[in-house]
Amino acid sequence: MSQSLLKLEGIEKRFVMGEETIHALRGIDLSIPRNQSVAFIGTSGSGKSTLMNILGCLDRPSAGRYWLNGRDVATLDESELADTRNREIGFIFQSFNLLPRASALQNVMHPLIYRGLRPAERQRRAREALARVGLENRMDHLPNQLSGGQRQRVAIARALVGQPSILLADEPTGNLDSATTADIMALFDDLLREGQTLILVTHEPDIAEHCQRVVRLSDGQVVSDTLREEHHVQPA
Ligand code: ADP
Ligand code: MG
Repeated sequence: MSQSLLKLEGIEKRFVMGEETIHALRGIDLSIPRNQSVAFIGTSGSGKSTLMNILGCLDRPSAGRYWLNGRDVATLDESELADTRNREIGFIFQSFNLLPRASALQNVMHPLIYRGLRPAERQRRAREALARVGLENRMDHLPNQLSGGQRQRVAIARALVGQPSILLADEPTGNLDSATTADIMALFDDLLREGQTLILVTHEPDIAEHCQRVVRLSDGQVVSDTLREEHHVQPA
């Protein structure tokens, strides 16, 4: 039996806001194998970001269990959780979340600070990651000296530099025009061919259709889960 990279069982998330309790997730069961591309879709407020935050170990569920690479995340203390997040997860956000006063290179080197690598090795890996996303000529630029698409490529390089098991992207093309969106999706396809596992949130049907699997959330539950065999990316 092949082991799932991610496995969720009965995941719930409740937010208590004064008198009110919001049930953001109401029992999510999901299993995701290595090297799959998955799109989470659903209306605003359906729980997509909450689920991504739990998958990315940025937040803990109120109930249910989550195994990441065979480890029960609930058994990890805060420092083990931070370490797992750093090693296993690469995050990409709609708003890029780059450090504004740091160069592209410095932004990409940043996650490696926690790995105990020498600065020269950090820099070598960051250069390699930036070259991977086609930014070898923009290493010393600040974020505000780059286009939106280039900023998102820096963010992707930063997500990739630590060789995470999973890339998590919450509306990664939400701030990009359609040509730039196509470039970013082509880059994701390349990464998938190289064995990456990718989970993204999107509002846009054509981006969801790009993924092998589409999971629709509604009111904190999975209401459909479709594997699109015909869209499987062929090995290069
Ligand atoms: P989506 O990403 O699908 O738009 P979210 O996961 O952001 O949805 O939100 C799901 C529900 O949980 C919404 O009702 C939202 O208001 C609520 N919610 C999300 N995060 C928090 C939070 N930190 N505190 C309180 N409520 C939250
Ligand atoms: Mg969201």
